[in-house]
Amino acid sequence: MRPLIAGNWKMHGTLREAVVLAEAVRAGAGGLGADLLVCPPFLHVPPVAAAMAGGPVAVGAQDCHAATKGAHTGDTSAPMLCDAGATHVILGHSERRADHGETDAVVRAKVQAALAAGLIPVACVGETEAQRLAGEAEAVVRQQLAESLPDDFGGVVAYEPVWAIGTGRTPTEEDIAAIHATIRATLVARFGPAGQATRILYGGSMKPGNAKAILALPNVDGGLVGGASLVAADFLAIAAAA
Ligand code: 13P
Repeated sequence: MRPLIAGNWKMHGTLREAVVLAEAVRAGAGGLGADLLVCPPFLHVPPVAAAMAGGPVAVGAQDCHAATKGAHTGDTSAPMLCDAGATHVILGHSERRADHGETDAVVRAKVQAALAAGLIPVACVGETEAQRLAGEAEAVVRQQLAESLPDDFGGVVAYEPVWAIGTGRTPTEEDIAAIHATIRATLVARFGPAGQATRILYGGSMKPGNAKAILALPNVDGGLVGGASLVAADFLAIAAAA
């Protein structure tokens, strides 16, 4: 399937820097063999969506609330993100799970809210280093999938081992392929043909230097890129490797 290369800009940059980065990504996005998605911080979604309007690069957010509206100070709803020009939303990122105590049940409710609003959720799973060392990586990921995805899931899954995020370390190619095969089997068992068609992204220290090898692995249908997505040339080089 056509790969998706998604940039998670996390909490970086000024409004001006976000627009400059968006324009540089857009300028280099033509003729690639991959779909592109950039996910700026909430405040930067509208100007980045404006910069990407009519072009090939989709825009997403990094979280949403499970409710459509209400007394939720500081939160942003899925319909608001649609209204602001987003088409995707990253949900259940390990940094949200760690910083905000998001459980699988919370992630599932947010995924449902995103689907109801017409957003494509990018649902994240991944084990901690302790869990991997204990031999629990596959079980953890299976459980996160079972509990974070609703029965009507339609979207993207991202496998991000927590210990590989921002560390420069990645699992071996064998380990990535093994987890992605587990994710595929889990999705197919639950969702049938839709599970076969679901893109499974790898995330965690993906760089231009390792992207080609990782993206060539079976059941790796793209990447969720953090640090390297903040440099347009690096992000585009990863997309070119897909
Ligand atoms: P890095 O690419 O910086 O390791 O971040 C990965 C990530 O968390 C993307 O969501």
